[in-house]
Amino acid sequence: MTEPNEKFFEELESRIPTGEVRTRFAPSPTGYMHVGNLRTALYTWCIARHSGGKFLLRIEDTDQARLVEGAVDVIYNTLTDCGLDWDEGPDKGGPVGPYVQTERRGLYLPYAQRLVRRGHAYYCFCEKAASEEDSGDFEREADPCRDLPEAEVQRRLAAGDAYVIRQKIPQEGTTTFHDEIFGDVTVPNKDLDDQVLIKRDGLPTYNFANVIDDHLMGITHVVRGSEYLSSSPKYNLLYEGFGWDIPKYVHCPPVMRDAHSKMSKRHGDPSYEDLVEEGYLRAAIVNYVALLGWAPGGEREIYSIRELAEAFDVSGISKSPAIFDKEKLTYFNATYIRAMEPAEFAAAAEPYIRQAVKNPAIDPAAIAALLQQRTEVLTDIPGKLGFFDALPDYDTELYVHKKSKSDKESSLTMLEAALPVLEALPVWDDEHIHDAMTSLAEKLEVKNAKLMWPVRIAATGTAVTPGGAVELCRILGQEETLRRLRDGIERLS
Ligand code: GLU
Repeated sequence: MTEPNEKFFEELESRIPTGEVRTRFAPSPTGYMHVGNLRTALYTWCIARHSGGKFLLRIEDTDQARLVEGAVDVIYNTLTDCGLDWDEGPDKGGPVGPYVQTERRGLYLPYAQRLVRRGHAYYCFCEKAASEEDSGDFEREADPCRDLPEAEVQRRLAAGDAYVIRQKIPQEGTTTFHDEIFGDVTVPNKDLDDQVLIKRDGLPTYNFANVIDDHLMGITHVVRGSEYLSSSPKYNLLYEGFGWDIPKYVHCPPVMRDAHSKMSKRHGDPSYEDLVEEGYLRAAIVNYVALLGWAPGGEREIYSIRELAEAFDVSGISKSPAIFDKEKLTYFNATYIRAMEPAEFAAAAEPYIRQAVKNPAIDPAAIAALLQQRTEVLTDIPGKLGFFDALPDYDTELYVHKKSKSDKESSLTMLEAALPVLEALPVWDDEHIHDAMTSLAEKLEVKNAKLMWPVRIAATGTAVTPGGAVELCRILGQEETLRRLRDGIERLS
C-alpha cells in the first residue's frame, strides 16, 4: 500500500481536542466486567469528572480471538448501572471517532509507515511463526531486516513479499518513563524487544493501536492495570518516535483474591455481574471498589459516585495490590441498605420477597419495612421468609426460652389467654395488637416477653424472625394468626 499524503495525517491531527483533561476506558469486550476493570473505569471516570474533562469509551476489539455476543452491551450496561457516564463513545459519537478499534483499522498502517520513515520502525520480511509476531520473544540482534538497505526494502515491497512492521528500539542506552503511581521507571533498552506494530495481515498489534488511538483521541491520562507497566517504555519510545506529547500514565496495581493470586473469573472469583446477582447494590459495589487501593484520607468511607469524583486524587492510589474482601463489601452493602428510602428499599427487595412469599394477600412493602434494618445482602431475604406462606412443622422445644422465662407449659397458658383477646380485636393493626397484648400481660401479671415469645413462635414456627410478634401477626392477618395460634395450642396440649 502506498503511503497516504500529509493531508491524511493533518486531518486526523486537526481533530484532536486540546486544553482539557481527556481520559478513556478501553475495555476489550469479554462479556463480563472484572472487579479490577470496574475499578479502572471508575478511577478513569473520576479523573475526568474531577477536573471537568471528558471521559471516553473505546472498545478494543482488535485482539479478540472470537466475538462474544452482546459483550459490548455488557460494557454499556455496567457503566450506565454504576453511574459512569461517558461523553464520547461508539454510541455517542464525538470528534475523534470511530470509537471501536476494528472500525479504525485503516489508520494504523499509514502511521506505522510514517514511523518507518522517521527511523523508528522497519519492515521485517523474515519468516516467523505467527506467535512470535505478537510476543516478540526472539533475539533482536539477530534480525537481519533491521538494517536492510532502503532499495532492498522497496524491491521486496514491490515484489509483494509478506512483511510485518517492527518497532526499532535503540540498541544502547536506557528509557525512562514516569508513572503517577510508580514514579520514574528506567529500563535498559537492550531489555526491550523490537515488538511487532503491524502484523502480516496488515492489522495492528494491540500495543501499537493503543498508542495511535490514545494520541489521536487526545488522551491526557492513560489509566490501566499495572500489567501494562512493562510495556510503557516501548509506548514512550513510540510517542517520542512520532514526536508526540506523552500522556500521564496511571497504572493501577491488581485486585487480588488473597496475598498470592489475582482475582480471576476462571478461578471462581466474582465479576461485577456476579456480585449484582449475589444481591449486592450497585452503589455499594462502586463505593467499595473505589476504596480498593485508593484512600481518600481520613476516616470517611461512604461516598456517592459524585462525591468520589470530587474527592478523587491520583496521589491516593496505593502501589501495593489490593485484596478484595467480601466481608467488607457486605458491610458497605448493609450500610447502603439501611440508608435507603423505605420505598426504594421496598422496590429493590420486592423480587426477593416474592421468591419466598407467593400469597398475594401479603403486602411485600410491609415485609420490606421489617427487613430493611436487618438485611446485609438482598439474596439473604428469601431464606428469612419461609414461614409466611406456610407454617413450618416446628418442634415445640422452640417454646422453651430462658430469657423470656418461657417453657412449654407457660406457653400453652399464654396462647390460650391470647387467642380470645386477639379474636375479639375489631381493628387489626400494630397499635391494637400491641395494646391488647400488653394489657393482657399486665392482667396476667407477667412480663411482655413471656406472652410475646409463644405468640411469635406459634405464628411463625421459627426461632429467628425478621420482626417481632406484633408486626408479624399484623402482616399475617387476623384469620391466619388465629389459625396458627390454635395450631400452637394443639401442639402443646
Ligand atoms: N483493552 C485493554 C484491556 O481491556 C485496555 C488497556 C488500556 O487501557 O490501555 O485490558
